[in-house]
This record gives sequence, C-alpha cells and structure tokens, in this order.
Amino acid sequence: MKIAIIGAGVAGSIFAKGLANTPGIEVHCFERIAPGEHAESGTGLNIGPNAVQALQATDPELAQKITDVSFAWSGWRVSTMGGQELFNLKLKDIAPVEGWRLRWAELYRVLREAAGEAIRYNCTIDAITPKEDGTGRLDVAFTENGEAKTLADVDLLVAADGRFSQVRTQFRGPVNARQVGVGIFRLLVPNTSNGLIEDYEQWFNGPNRLLGYRVPDDSIYMSGTFPIPVGGDIPDEMKTREALRLAYTPTDGKLSAQGEWLVDLVTDENVDLHWARLQESPLCLREENVNILYLGDSSNGMVPTLGQGATQAVESTCAALDIVKKFAAVGQYDPALWLDTITKARQDRLRFVMDFSLEASDTLLAGSDPVSGTLKKTEAPFQAKLSQLYNDFAVPTGLLEEV
Ligand SMILES: Cc1cc2nc3c(=O)[nH]c(=O)nc-3n(C[C@H](O)[C@H](O)[C@H](O)COP(=O)(O)OP(=O)(O)OC[C@H]3O[C@@H](n4cnc5c(N)ncnc54)[C@H](O)[C@@H]3O)c2cc1C
Repeated sequence: MKIAIIGAGVAGSIFAKGLANTPGIEVHCFERIAPGEHAESGTGLNIGPNAVQALQATDPELAQKITDVSFAWSGWRVSTMGGQELFNLKLKDIAPVEGWRLRWAELYRVLREAAGEAIRYNCTIDAITPKEDGTGRLDVAFTENGEAKTLADVDLLVAADGRFSQVRTQFRGPVNARQVGVGIFRLLVPNTSNGLIEDYEQWFNGPNRLLGYRVPDDSIYMSGTFPIPVGGDIPDEMKTREALRLAYTPTDGKLSAQGEWLVDLVTDENVDLHWARLQESPLCLREENVNILYLGDSSNGMVPTLGQGATQAVESTCAALDIVKKFAAVGQYDPALWLDTITKARQDRLRFVMDFSLEASDTLLAGSDPVSGTLKKTEAPFQAKLSQLYNDFAVPTGLLEEV
C-alpha cells in the first residue's frame, strides 16, 4: 500500500510518523520547504485538551515531546480592557488534562523531527493524475531539489497541505471561504510584561478584542481582532497605531495595568503585526472516485476563535491513524473502505467544532455586547458544548469494533 502525503505541517507530520513503521505501508510525505525552515510567522498556539488527549492515546511519546517544549494552557480568563473579569475557566474543571501553549515554529520542529526520513523536503507538486483503471489510484509528479520525479501507483493520497490546499483546488476549484467580518492581527515578542501576561486571556473593549499569553522561551504571543465589513478587506486606516489605540481604549480612558501594557505593545512602531481575516472553508473530507483524504486545514479551515485549527488537525490525524492501523493489523488494505470509515468518524465531529467555533465568535462581531455575550458563556449550555469540545475526541465506538 503506497501512501503519499502532501504537506508536512501539523497533520502531515503526525500522519507520516504514525505510518512510518506500519507493516504493509510505504509512506512518502512531500514538503515544499527546506529542512529546518520552520517559519515563525509571528505566531504562538494554544492547543486544546482534546488534541492532548487524542495524541496521548495514539502516540504518547510524541505527546510528551510537545509537552516538553510547551507551557500548560491551564485557564481561560476574559475581562474588559478596564479590568472587569467576565469569565474565568480552569480547563482541569472541564477536561482531565490541560492544553498546550507554545511557539508555532517549535511545534513544527518537534513534529517534523519525529517524522524523520518519512518527510521529503524541497518538494513541489507538479501534477496529480488519477489513473484511468477505475481503482482510484493516482500518479504524483513532483520536483525534488530541482529534479523532476514521479511517484506512480499511489493507493491513497493525503492532502495535508493546509488551508490553501493545492490538491483541493485541483479537484474542487478554489476554496470559497466564508468571511465572517472580523480583521485579525498577531505578533510574537520577547516578554517585557513583568508577570502581567502569563496564561491564556482575552480583553474586550466593545467588540474589539485582544488575546495574549506567554510561550516558551519567555515570549508573548498576542492577537487582536475588530469588526470589518463582511467580505471586505481590512481598511488601511484601521491598521494605524492611532486607530488601534482608539479601538482598545475604553471611552473613559481607564485601562487596567494589563490593558495599558497591551495597548502600548500593539501601538509600538517597532512591533511587526501580521494581518488576516477570520474565515471558514466548506467542510470536505475526501474525494469520491479517487482515493484522496483531506486532513487538517485542507478539510476544515475554521475560524480561530476556540483555538481549534491545529487542535483539530491533531485530533483528525490521530483518528485516521487509529483507523488505518486497525485495518492494516487485520490485513485490510482497501483505501475506499479506509476513506469511508475515516469520513464516518470525523464528519459530525468536525461539523460540530466548526459550528461551535463560529458561534463562539459572536462577541467579535459588529454591534455585539461582549459583556453579556461573555457572561452567557459561563452558563450551562455553552459549558456543556465546551465539555463536548474538549472531551469527545475519540473515534465513535462501534466504528473500530466493526473492523
Ligand atoms: C495566526 C494563526 C494563529 C493560529 N492559532 C491557533 C491556535 O492557537 N490553536 C490552534 O489549534 N490552531 C491555530 N491556528 C491554526 C493552525 O495553525 C492550523 O489549523 C494548522 O496549522 C493546520 O494544520 P495543517 O497540518 O492542516 O496545515 P499546516 O500546518 O498549515 O501545514 C501545511 C503544510 O503543507 C505544506 N504545503 C502546502 N502546500 C504544499 C504543496 N503544494 N506541496 C508541498 N507542501 C505543501 C506547507 O509548507 C505546510 O508545511 C492558527 C493559525 C494562524 C494562521
């Protein structure tokens, strides 16, 4: 069984490592960047307890390696920029383990090192050609270190090539992302907060929100959002330091000590802000007549509100690994059956997580009242969904027992 994985990001690296020594499986993971090039992109990540639990169950050694380069994500506190606390959740009250907070580049480094030689770097994909024999297999033409090559007779192609997936674009056309009407910026800087910023927190001024936490090695990751016209670009005038100061300062001018430090940081001329917009792609797990599985953002680009992008990439990959390994253990190598089972295992779960992430974005939208909106999140219905989010990660019972 020959498996080609396109992309060695979160999903691709974990999948490549997990399959590397599985009997009967030959795995090739193609990554376009050079080895050791783990772009920072001004980013830290908080990864949810659901991914931690999933990886601990599927690959405990890899989970420990991530724990070693992370701080625990223990709590989630929300307050106003003036300092009024609205929400304060201890993750341990809702899930058996805490989450991770770490630098994006460190996560990639650990995952790629663990996958070792299963990853082929400096590879670009030139053509993916389904075979005409009705088997659903494919040929992959690629360029590796400048040399054109072909991997023929691929039984299963895993598109783990991220939100702007080349594979998905080839088979489905350009991804028609839904814009939510929120602009977002992010930054990663050395920690100069003197203990003001530690675990995951959010601060609101109207619907304008800052989010921040400390990551190893003593850096602060921060992001900020504010409403923009739905479907429109972020207005240039909103990107100025004056506009940002105005957006995050209450009308009475009173900022908490944290608030003051945060506003000074985002309006500091020497700090690089990376800009994007909140958007969601239509859910898509597989192709029908050709053996392609979409894994991670290529399948389910979602709004980042609950920190579930990488979290779901981990969760989906663990589920796919559990299923594939179970089939391989009983000598069942039919990719169509694998695709059916993985789709059944993940479809409803991913729909729930995407919808819940969108629902939780209500306080970021134009005209929203973050105080009442956040207080609502302390009530039973939201907390029950949060518990479902952080705990219902496993492949539904029955699906694996049928194998
Ligand atoms: C600013 C920001 C903050 C985020 N914060 C969080 C957070 O706090 N928590 C969270 O859970 N998620 C967060 N996310 C989302 C998270 O980063 C993604 O959901 C996650 O990386 C998806 O994993 P993936 O494996 O699907 O794709 P990626 O990690 O994007 O990996 C795709 C890989 O494919 C490679 N590739 C792409 N095209 C090709 C090609 N044609 N050929 C070869 N290789 C290719 C890329 O180089 C890359 O290595 C954040 C995202 C952003 C942008």
